[in-house]
Amino acid sequence: MTRHYNFCAGPAALPEAVLARAREEMLDYRGRGLSVMEMSHRSGDYVAIAEQAERDLRDLLAIPDNYRVLFTQGGATQQFAALPYNLLGAGGTANFVQTGIWGSKAIKEARHLFGDAAVAASSEANGHTAVPRPEDIVLSSDAAYLHYTANETIGGLEFDYIPGNDAGELRRPDGREVPLACDMSSSILSGPLDVSRFGVIYAGAQKNIGPAGLVVAIVRDDLLDQGRADMPSLFSYRALAEAGSMINTPATYSWYLAGLVFQWLKDDIGGLAAMSAINDRKAARLYAAIDASEFYSNPIAPRNRSRMNVPFVLADSRLEDAFLAESEEAGLLNLKGHRSVGGMRASLYNAVPEAAVEALVDFMADFEKRRG
Ligand code: PMP
Repeated sequence: MTRHYNFCAGPAALPEAVLARAREEMLDYRGRGLSVMEMSHRSGDYVAIAEQAERDLRDLLAIPDNYRVLFTQGGATQQFAALPYNLLGAGGTANFVQTGIWGSKAIKEARHLFGDAAVAASSEANGHTAVPRPEDIVLSSDAAYLHYTANETIGGLEFDYIPGNDAGELRRPDGREVPLACDMSSSILSGPLDVSRFGVIYAGAQKNIGPAGLVVAIVRDDLLDQGRADMPSLFSYRALAEAGSMINTPATYSWYLAGLVFQWLKDDIGGLAAMSAINDRKAARLYAAIDASEFYSNPIAPRNRSRMNVPFVLADSRLEDAFLAESEEAGLLNLKGHRSVGGMRASLYNAVPEAAVEALVDFMADFEKRRG
């Protein structure tokens, strides 16, 4: 068996220790004579797995008691719809900071459903190479919430701050406080986070949480009752919270694997501060290699360079196919950039080891020497 280094943007690499544990427990979960996949989601064993996963996630992110943790489905894309349904019950307009493709999709969905969405700030003018400064975010007078994408997975653009004033609050022109909602699909769990700054955080699982099929939403209690009456019942944060995320059958196996990832982060890595230090080193190593070369380049302003997704291009784009073919042959998988932008992209999520980055940097230097 050979496991290669996987730089996929999602579904992404999982920790080998997690896969090994899942393999051990696959056919016979702890002497019960069946797989987790074959269990009733209402059984005592499964409910214990689900509750442990929530406790471990709460520990890792230090989630305050006045937040609910929901394990739902439909991808992060479904949250583009669920979020306005849940937060626009009292009227008002969804506000957005637009910093790339995923944020634009969230805006499009809000407009499609509710006719209006306000762009409170955008990095479109600089080609999404630097996020707007905090003082450039201007909420509409009827803002119901502000949504942003903490890390744009395709552009490789990451916020270096959490929107809000010096006191950590977001206020619209009439002084009313506005909750902050964040798509954290590609950066959640990459480091410690002050959850109390947010109204809603959501993240698709298939990058730093576990396999696809699961979405985690972290919702402040007071926002459970702001939903629209015409909301599909499966979207409802209130209904999900009351049912322990089991209104219907949840993504049981993905939830179980997410729980194993949380245990790996706690026990093997030592928590999110330790994870963050490793992620800093990985990203610094790759950006330094790119910056030291005339052959590779990345266009993002240094303060907003993503730690998780590093896009880069070659000075001669005709060499891209050769780069991809040869890197794959060298056991470095999935370095192709998103189909909408081309070029290369190395995703360095939590489960990508430092050795993978070393191998990539060595390959890049060698390729440049031979072909540059
Ligand atoms: N938001 C971000 C930041 C993403 O990276 C992605 C997927 N790559 C999505 C939303 C959409 O996620 P899903 O495919 O789970 O709907």
